[in-house]
Amino acid sequence: MTVCNEVLGKINSFQSLGTVDGPGVRYVVFMQGCNLRCACCHNPDTWAINGGNTYTAEQVVEKACRYKEYFGKAGGITLSGGEPLVQAPFVKKVFSLCKERGINTCLDTSGSIINDNVLELLEVTDRVLLDIKYTNDKDYINHVGCELSIVLKFLRLLNDRKIPTTIRQVIIPTINDDKVNILRLKEIIKDYACIDKVELLPFKKLCQAKYDNLGMPFPFGKLPTPTKEVITELTSILNG
Ligand code: SF4
Repeated sequence: MTVCNEVLGKINSFQSLGTVDGPGVRYVVFMQGCNLRCACCHNPDTWAINGGNTYTAEQVVEKACRYKEYFGKAGGITLSGGEPLVQAPFVKKVFSLCKERGINTCLDTSGSIINDNVLELLEVTDRVLLDIKYTNDKDYINHVGCELSIVLKFLRLLNDRKIPTTIRQVIIPTINDDKVNILRLKEIIKDYACIDKVELLPFKKLCQAKYDNLGMPFPFGKLPTPTKEVITELTSILNG
């Protein structure tokens, strides 16, 4: 969205001192709008691009700067969502301003949109948290709404640009909580030097109330959450 040459962004919410969306302590901005419809989504309230509130990039950076003293060397700002690539020009503006102020920039994305705006955004991105949600096209098409190949194309762009990358996968019982999936993930990511961390995260259902409020079914709402033991075992297969 642009008004009088000012890039405006639609934002769902902010988190002041986040510790799970990137290294160190981070100011996390949850962008409004998503091009996908993941069956495991925790944030269905971010999907509609016409929701949320409107901010300028300067307003977002001013908010983040209030917490700068907590960021230390590792921390900074993370733009998450929703899907931040839906509003790539706005995210690029936020990141450019952050870099002028010495704030580390991190993009939390599904990697499912590639265009000139996204390429420009990557120029000012210090780290990417990339979801590889599944390891085959069938699950991507059935449970996400895009193909795995576009995510791998996005990963190649990160590798070409040497952008430090964390791969994340949510482990969902009966869908991808098996050794075969983890071995496939290992195989998929083995040739990308940009990847310095891989996280397997447990599927959670705290979002059920959000689906209820929106009057929408939670597609994976009947699936259980994985045990700690399963996550530990799959992580050891991944690292083995
Ligand atoms: S990409 Fe993220 S926000 Fe969008 S539907 Fe999937 S999990 Fe939800």
